[in-house]
Amino acid sequence: MGVRLVILGRPGAGKGTQCVDLAAHYAVPHISTGDMLRRSVAAGTPLGREAKSYMDSGGLVPDDVIIGVVAEVLGDPEFAEQGWLLDGFPRTVPQADELSRITADAPIQVVANLEVPREVVLERIAGRRAEEDRADDAEDAVLIRLDVFDRYILPVVEWYRSRGELVDVDGVGAPAEVFDRLVKVIDEQLAS
Ligand code: AMP
Repeated sequence: MGVRLVILGRPGAGKGTQCVDLAAHYAVPHISTGDMLRRSVAAGTPLGREAKSYMDSGGLVPDDVIIGVVAEVLGDPEFAEQGWLLDGFPRTVPQADELSRITADAPIQVVANLEVPREVVLERIAGRRAEEDRADDAEDAVLIRLDVFDRYILPVVEWYRSRGELVDVDGVGAPAEVFDRLVKVIDEQLAS
């Protein structure tokens, strides 16, 4: 049976790339709710039509909608056997609570909190803006996403921490270094 991992981290912190590499390393499917929603938007499905306005404004898709999507994916017996790496979910305490119910039979093994300070993410965005000498709506949405993320994710981080399920990983540095740190911490947790 494959491993079951959750990776938490700010948008713009390089989490997406790390998750792709980690999923390959542990040979498990990479389940990114952001990617799933973007595919639904591109395909014009009912889910995509419902999610689009929330995503465009930088807000969160309602809990019941995204929980339904994740419950369906993780309920697939194939995923239960293969294991998975969840990226972008949970984003709120109700999502975390529901996830623990969904995974009651095969619980999450590691929740890794990839820490990149807000200032570092903001500097990257500001650097890009200065380089391109412009401020555009897409980047304003990134800033809103960052605010929304911080507002809802901190209680999620504390929720996992209080249950003793959280490990912190320093996300600042070269991607290869950060990857090594993640693997080390995840392997330690899996072995404990
Ligand atoms: P991401 O690529 O993970 O930053 O997700 C892009 C956008 O999809 C977010 O800004 C949200 O609008 C939406 N989204 C992704 N995951 C979730 C989630 N777990 N809960 C609510 N909205 C989500």
